[in-house]
Amino acid sequence: MTFHSLHYNNEAEIDQAALLCQRTFKSGHTRPLPFRRHQLEQLWRLIDENEDQLCNAVHKDLHKHKNEVVLGELCMSKEEINTALVHLEDWTKDEKTIPALVNRIGTTCIKRKEPKGAALIIAPWNYPVYLAIAPLAGAIAAGCTAVLKPSEVAPHTAQLLSELLSRYLDYSAFIVINGAAQETTRLLKHKWDHIFYTGNSDVAKIIMKAASNNLTSLTLELGGKSPAIIDEDANLALAAKRIMFGKTFNAGQTCVAPDYILVTEKAEAKLIAALKTAALELYGDNPQNSSSYGRIVNNRHFHRLHNLLKFNKSGKIVFGGQVDELDLYIAPTVITNVDRDDKLMENEIFGPLLPIIRVADVDDAIEFINSKHEPLALYVFSNNKKLVKKVLDSTRSGGALVNDTLMHVSESSLPFGGIGNSGMGSYHGKSSFDAFTHVRSVMIKTLTPVSEMVMNMRYAPYTSSKLAIGKLAIEHVPYFKRGFLFRNMKWIALMLVFGLGYKRALA
Ligand code: NAD
Repeated sequence: MTFHSLHYNNEAEIDQAALLCQRTFKSGHTRPLPFRRHQLEQLWRLIDENEDQLCNAVHKDLHKHKNEVVLGELCMSKEEINTALVHLEDWTKDEKTIPALVNRIGTTCIKRKEPKGAALIIAPWNYPVYLAIAPLAGAIAAGCTAVLKPSEVAPHTAQLLSELLSRYLDYSAFIVINGAAQETTRLLKHKWDHIFYTGNSDVAKIIMKAASNNLTSLTLELGGKSPAIIDEDANLALAAKRIMFGKTFNAGQTCVAPDYILVTEKAEAKLIAALKTAALELYGDNPQNSSSYGRIVNNRHFHRLHNLLKFNKSGKIVFGGQVDELDLYIAPTVITNVDRDDKLMENEIFGPLLPIIRVADVDDAIEFINSKHEPLALYVFSNNKKLVKKVLDSTRSGGALVNDTLMHVSESSLPFGGIGNSGMGSYHGKSSFDAFTHVRSVMIKTLTPVSEMVMNMRYAPYTSSKLAIGKLAIEHVPYFKRGFLFRNMKWIALMLVFGLGYKRALA
């Protein structure tokens, strides 16, 4: 919003950061758990001790209210760090597996949780603190080093993050690089061990191409058109309030904002009235005067959204529609009876415009959703369990939430990520650790002759008896060919043991 000249790093600084990140990782500096723990604690302190500064920076970039920054970014970042601190020992410890029959003698099988290495984290502008800090916490917990590239579109936050991170974290392991496409392209020329990108799917293709040069693994956190299906028998007032909240939080610039509504004509009028009431409750008569309501991030996005309003071919604005270019303000706007092929329905809206599409029934809604790319989120409002199950069974999306919006993202026990066009891989909670971790399978054998007893069958000269022993050791009887007794051997044995014990006790 306010003009800010962000210091962009030059090529030499970018190259140096990438090399330092790789060198530090190879030195093993970031692997010990006390180091990871200390860095995570420092990251937590960074947020805690600079709450006001962070809120001010995000406000300058997005006119976001303090409540939205604290609850939607800072608390969520701190919780991500806290979860990693609580579970660090558990997540990082070796996991023993039970070897197959052929490997049972003299063999130990272990899954080691090893850091992937030097990671590149590329963040977007809409939640400029959380979307930078949360993946970074995962990288630290996993034992990686990382270069973080905040979004230049939120320059105040980007500048502040680079100052704070260099003050709180170990600079040889965690480095912030600032810049736009050119600087990111330079970063992508280097070999990374993992790239974590959050942003739009067009740039994701560029990132993926660059990653393919080094066969680097990727997490892509993208967006999409997340639908909201409203069952006509649902509690429309509450559904409308929760949808309006999801659509106007950060002025609709949220990757999982409900993009459009699918509803039957019968319930439409009631729903519109409820949406209007909800908007009034949240922001009053004139949302431009409400300190709770955000602004569009810049001119480019303002004009993109304004053009959607000006040039949509169908539909009727039932409330909202006011814009103010100088203030980058667009009112919460509901547009009804929008055609399925309208401009509004082409790409993710990513702003406070809410089209309503009329559907004949739930099957029609499902068919429409399935005609488009897989969304990042799917919302269903209904108390009818059968209807909800039907929707979940017959659609695909990154995640789904029944009877609310946005809240599934804040649940750290659930992995968060997309599918198809809405992304690949996931994070949050344990999944953040997993995203930056390589599970290294290790088999440890003893060098004693006893382990050769079964293994002898693999050596030449091959004979038919070795083949028979090998088959017995490797091949199980397939489940579908096992008889009732064989399939339930465990239970039958248990019943026999208890039966005999009971008989003895009676005797
Ligand atoms: P953006 O413009 O800030 O771009 C994201 C990052 O990509 C920035 O760091 C930017 O510098 C870099 N970048 C831009 N152009 C590039 C290029 N040509 N080459 C290399 N790097 C480049 O953010 P955006 O893409 O406008 O973000 C909005 C999108 O992100 C929406 O689609 C939204 O749904 C999605 N999103 C997804 C999530 C999620 O968690 N899944 C979260 C937030 C946003």
